[in-house]
Amino acid sequence: MNIRVRYAPSPTGFQHIGGIRTALFNYLFARSGGGKFILRLEDTDRARCDPVYEQNLYGTFVWLGIHWDEGPDLGGPVGPYVQSQRTDLYQRYVQELLEKGRAYRCFCSTERLEKIRTEREAARSPETGYDRHCRNIGGEESSRRAAAGETFTVRLRIPLDRGNVTRFTDKLLGDIEWKNSDINPDPVLLKSDGFPTYHLANVVDDHLMEITHILRAQEWLSSVPLHVILYDALGWEPPVFCHLPMVMGQDGKKLSKRHGATSIDEFRRQGYLPEALLNYTAFLGCSYEEGRDLYTAEEMEKLFSLDKLNKAPAIFDYKKLEWYNGQYIRMKTSEDLAALSMPWAQDLFGKSGEETTAEPAGPTEEQKTLYTEAMDLVRERANFLPEIPGKVGYLFSEPVPPAPEEFIPKKSDLASAVSLLRMGKELISAFFSGGKSVSDEEAERIVKEKAEKENVKLGDLLMPLRVAITGSRVSPPLFASIRLLGAERCRQRIDAALTACSTLLSILGG
Ligand code: GLU
Ligand code: ZN
Repeated sequence: MNIRVRYAPSPTGFQHIGGIRTALFNYLFARSGGGKFILRLEDTDRARCDPVYEQNLYGTFVWLGIHWDEGPDLGGPVGPYVQSQRTDLYQRYVQELLEKGRAYRCFCSTERLEKIRTEREAARSPETGYDRHCRNIGGEESSRRAAAGETFTVRLRIPLDRGNVTRFTDKLLGDIEWKNSDINPDPVLLKSDGFPTYHLANVVDDHLMEITHILRAQEWLSSVPLHVILYDALGWEPPVFCHLPMVMGQDGKKLSKRHGATSIDEFRRQGYLPEALLNYTAFLGCSYEEGRDLYTAEEMEKLFSLDKLNKAPAIFDYKKLEWYNGQYIRMKTSEDLAALSMPWAQDLFGKSGEETTAEPAGPTEEQKTLYTEAMDLVRERANFLPEIPGKVGYLFSEPVPPAPEEFIPKKSDLASAVSLLRMGKELISAFFSGGKSVSDEEAERIVKEKAEKENVKLGDLLMPLRVAITGSRVSPPLFASIRLLGAERCRQRIDAALTACSTLLSILGG
């Protein structure tokens, strides 16, 4: 069988985790079986559609690197792929359903429908939906009223003979049976403005686009019985249904904004990498190889299978996603990581010469090189892109001078801090002897030797030096920082620290 699957979003909101999980599973399923992945825009709810959401859809998938084979932008053999451009088609099938008696016109006004709703509510009636008022209007009368210009909708006639049930099989959930009396009573297929509803357009398009498998969120499961009736009414074979497990927050409730970011734009703004989001999303309801978490897109394409889907709901774990993000940051080259984190780094590079220009000037070539080199210092220490610039800020501007006490090692005093800082200054000269910086391994050897010779603890020697150079007791690797800053800037920082400590020492002493 030639697999054909689709992602069929309505452009009525921003792309979020649930949506991209559906798209990704369809995409992986198509790729795993050498099939086609189709994008179809279900824009029949005209009031709620907005081009902004359509742009967001395209932007999101470009960013994620998910490509479809046929779609509104690419075209294809069964287009157009936008439902609002297919209204003639739907009307043709509505006509067929009317002729077969499988659908009927409803002439009820919105006021009437609203009235029965409020009356039922007042009476606390368990009945909901349409009361099938127009179900038995004869064909002739119906055609006459339509021809006379009365407004109408077209409704699906749900079979209600005694014992009527609708059965279907879901690939994941198994055999499912619905009493027809429990199905939405005669749902609207065609609205009074001539536009189809979701049900009609979805079924007609899945058939005409030769969709073989429907993989979508479980919230659509309740629509399947009426879709099955519609397929039958049109004399068509339904595709394979496969409703994906729900995605929940840690509290077991459906994932929503309360749990954290859900829209893809938000993840992007927070500095997530597309690879991390994709890799993690691929796990929301599917298992791959035992004990393995990291997969390239190509690997997932090979491994994905409907048999690996889980029935149990998937729990969205932001901590795990953060872990993935960290892992993908570790895999980046310095050039890529610098480019990716650059949007958050503008404050590092200062403003342009003229004070009046509000725009940051952007990095000079020299700053760009330094920033790129600095990526080696933070790659292992950042889980999010926006964290990166802050961690290397001390390479670009002088750190806020720490209070003199900050330079004092444990169980030591200010006088020792001063002598340790002086030793630190000598180390700088040793690191750059001959005008070139030594390797980080060599620097380490030199420091150890110095500590031994001066009879001080290695940690005590390094601590004040680290604070002077980086402005903090906790920092990226010290020797690499020194190497990137160069001898001159390091000496200046140590001198500043020495001045602060010596001044305080003389005040205290004198
Ligand atoms: N337009 C529906 C949505 O917004 C499509 C549901 C389906 O896949 O059938 O998700
Ligand atoms: Zn009616």
